[in-house]
Amino acid sequence: MSPDAASTGVEGGARIAERIDSLLPQTQCTRCGYPGCSPYASAIARGEADINQCPPGGAATIRALAALLGRKFKPLNPAHGVESPPSVAWIDEQRCIGCARCLSPCPVDAIVGAPKFLHTVLADRCTGCELCLPPCPVDCIEMRPAPAPGADQPARNRERYDAHLGRLQKRAQERQRELAALKASAAARSAAPS
Ligand code: SF4
Ligand code: SF4
Ligand code: SF4
Repeated sequence: MSPDAASTGVEGGARIAERIDSLLPQTQCTRCGYPGCSPYASAIARGEADINQCPPGGAATIRALAALLGRKFKPLNPAHGVESPPSVAWIDEQRCIGCARCLSPCPVDAIVGAPKFLHTVLADRCTGCELCLPPCPVDCIEMRPAPAPGADQPARNRERYDAHLGRLQKRAQERQRELAALKASAAARSAAPS
């Protein structure tokens, strides 16, 4: 019997989602229709998504998911894209205008640069997710072939994505603290006798 969330309860469903997530490539590319690998894994565990929606994982990932969940293999759903060879982003520095719009979409902080400076991609960090391409106003980012990823690549992608989320959370907390301090100072000023 397939170990789906409905038959194992909430805790069992979470465990299954974790096991599913561990089989996904962790590029966080969103091509499955979910905002990342973990939400897609949870949707599969809940029976809301099919196992053939991840183009970066392709047939190998579908086979692994089918084996885990006791389902039959089915080909990649073309509505989500096609399986393609590994690639990494490359920035044409002659054309880059330093607008920095490619920085925030990168889920693993693989682009280095600052506003008004040329940007470059750290190829060994890039997951090939292509999320930096659409925001570039001058189309100076292209995908280039990359070596086949090692077996530990998904774990490394995940680690870098978690670090990225951690940095975002820290920045948001800092902003909240700054905002609270500004509000407190404004309130103190307006309460002070004139
Ligand atoms: S790598 Fe696969 S599971 Fe992860 S976000 Fe991309 S399509 Fe979805
Ligand atoms: S550099 Fe571009 S393609 Fe590479 S991980 Fe970052 S957003 Fe994805
Ligand atoms: S979005 Fe394009 S032009 Fe802007 S910094 Fe990134 S690579 Fe350069």
